[in-house]
Amino acid sequence: MKIDLSGKTALVTGSTSGIGLAIARGLAGPGAAVIVNGRAKPRAEDATAQIRKTLAGASVRAVAADVATAEGCAALARAAGEIDILINNAGIFEPKDFFEIPDADWLRFYEVNVLSGVRLARALMPGMLKRNWGRVIFISSESALQIPKEMIHYGMTKTAQLAVSRGLAELTAGTGVTVNAVLPGPTRSDGVETFIGEMAKAANTTADAMAEGFVKQHRPSSLLQRFATVDEIANMVVYAVSKEASATNGAALRVEGGILRSVA
Ligand code: NAD
Repeated sequence: MKIDLSGKTALVTGSTSGIGLAIARGLAGPGAAVIVNGRAKPRAEDATAQIRKTLAGASVRAVAADVATAEGCAALARAAGEIDILINNAGIFEPKDFFEIPDADWLRFYEVNVLSGVRLARALMPGMLKRNWGRVIFISSESALQIPKEMIHYGMTKTAQLAVSRGLAELTAGTGVTVNAVLPGPTRSDGVETFIGEMAKAANTTADAMAEGFVKQHRPSSLLQRFATVDEIANMVVYAVSKEASATNGAALRVEGGILRSVA
């Protein structure tokens, strides 16, 4: 199988770093025209430059917009134009004791992690349905199915994404549009690197040593027994948006290293 995305335009939210950047690079490789998004224009432009450096001739452009707000999503959808592939990747996470999480945090997590995808799908999916081809992916998490007690608000948003994703898939019956969720497990993205760095500093050890022990200690059911790389997540996304993945719709696709012990 040789995946070819030429002629397709993709929008990846929150793609100036981490999993999003790897997905943007992964989609540009097989020829998609990719829109990179971040809140700040310089960072988004820097990300497009990084992709062009590794992929000569890649078609990438930066659109700065904050997907945490209705105005930001509307501006992004306007600037993006006709989109064939929408990757709702932007997301925030932060461990916090449930009893210390104020309403404002619950609302902020919901707005960034859930409503951003709802707003963009509402703006961009009708065009896909009209053209009879499209792909929407929600980057959820294994935390959607196994709620982490140290960040229940985050887990709630990741489960909500599965509900939205499956619901939207129901609207695609009989068309060439698919909507799926991808469930990464612990992945060594830039955001996680910061988190590991802080833990390493507190424990007076190196980030690599902390990372090596982290999955074994905190996610003991992991079969991978290490953090996934951002490219391992991107590879699943590239397949799921390909023409070849046309029979996969309404699914929750796991790339979590086997942490979830259930068969289905
Ligand atoms: P990251 O922090 O490394 O990158 C997130 C990106 O989103 C950054 O570029 C950030 O600038 C951008 N972003 C954040 N808020 C934004 C906003 N309001 N508007 C526009 N851009 C915004 O994170 P990551 O680890 O790569 O996570 C990406 C996605 O993968 C998230 O949805 C996360 O929940 C999910 N995920 C990550 C892991 C993991 O272990 N890294 C595991 C499961 C799921």
